[in-house]
Amino acid sequence: MSFQEFLNKIAPLANLTKPELKLLSTPQKVWKAQLNVSGKSYSAYRVQFNNARGPYKGGIRFHPEVNKQEVTNLAFWMTLKTAVADLPLGGAKGGITVDPKQLSLAELEELSRAYIRAFYLHLGSGKDIPAPDVYTTPQIMAWMLDEYETITGKKDPGMITGKPLEYGGSKVRDIATALGGFYILEEAVKKIGLKNKTVAIQGFGNAGSNMARLLSKAGYCVVAVSDSQGAIYSAQGLDIEKVIYVKEKTGTVCKVSDAAKISNEQLLQLDADILVPSALSEAITEKNAAQVKAKIVLELANGPTTPEANEILQAKNILVIPDILANSGGVTVSCFEWQQNLARSSWTESEIKRQLKEKLVNVFNQLWQDYQKSNYDFRTTAYLYAIKKVLAAERRRGRLS
Ligand code: NAD
Repeated sequence: MSFQEFLNKIAPLANLTKPELKLLSTPQKVWKAQLNVSGKSYSAYRVQFNNARGPYKGGIRFHPEVNKQEVTNLAFWMTLKTAVADLPLGGAKGGITVDPKQLSLAELEELSRAYIRAFYLHLGSGKDIPAPDVYTTPQIMAWMLDEYETITGKKDPGMITGKPLEYGGSKVRDIATALGGFYILEEAVKKIGLKNKTVAIQGFGNAGSNMARLLSKAGYCVVAVSDSQGAIYSAQGLDIEKVIYVKEKTGTVCKVSDAAKISNEQLLQLDADILVPSALSEAITEKNAAQVKAKIVLELANGPTTPEANEILQAKNILVIPDILANSGGVTVSCFEWQQNLARSSWTESEIKRQLKEKLVNVFNQLWQDYQKSNYDFRTTAYLYAIKKVLAAERRRGRLS
């Protein structure tokens, strides 16, 4: 669903006036460039959706399917994500239409630097702060910052986040998305008084594997995990350290010997109390939503539930914690990285974890209070909260009457 369709649907629930709807439907700036590397030309974008609450913030994606509409959609969702997580930031997204696997390392570096040469005037720690996204890495962030600092002739490490630790990066960033999701899930479990805590996790990359490790260490019983090659299941609970080891050695969780092999579809339908989609968008659809048996769905992936599937889950009274909240730990620690860079300081691991927990627990409890009072599901409550915050900042600026 495009962000315009989403806004048209939510407008009556949020009582949006025409000017408010127009403002939220309009990205503030859309930049486009052609980047030339090794005789080939690549389309590149930076969409700066809204900066009412602070500098634009959002990752840069390198993928063959990147296009203006997709980048604009993602920039819109970043605006809501930074608002819901209560960060002093706006929303943006960038991308290059490229298959980075086809490039040599030298070409990848050249393309990353070319992106900065095209857009550097619009970036900076007080303007717009990119970060990694699909197929972009801390090394790419380092090349981009180096290019930016070389062109502008000044040090501005807060111009980009997700950097390597040796070049201004933050501790905890590597596990931040999962850790944020974990803190939120712990609150949700308390709120609904969930006694049994069996978990199924779809996807075993950065988000999914770190989540599996955190949950199993905290005493949850992770009964199933999966990757693109399939899923594994054990009613007694998987040995997550062993699964991580096998995934590292063989490239897939499916090679774990003492677990039953099941399909990704079967994983979604397991009799587990908590389901954590951590892979693709549109994993839960109208075809499989009716078979979901979990009591909580924690959306660590971006957009894993289609709108039709969401209605089915709501009718079944399943608590769905939406992606803009569930995976906001990543952008929250990015914000901490930016704050450390601006202050030219470095926080300890325990300080970052403490602040992440405090922030997300506060946000969750605020939303829960709103949810108890509202006529809407938890997801809609979170959307309305974020929209209200963006509009309130716009009104204070005088851009809305
Ligand atoms: P990743 O590339 O590290 O891992 C993705 C995992 O999904 C891999 O294990 C892959 O094998 C698996 N996968 C791919 N196709 C699958 C399929 N059909 N069925 C089951 N598993 C499949 O990516 P990630 O960083 O862990 O991101 C996962 C999701 O979380 C994405 O939606 C991403 O947008 C979202 N997210 C990640 C972060 C972050 O900081 N990593 C932040 C916010 C949102």
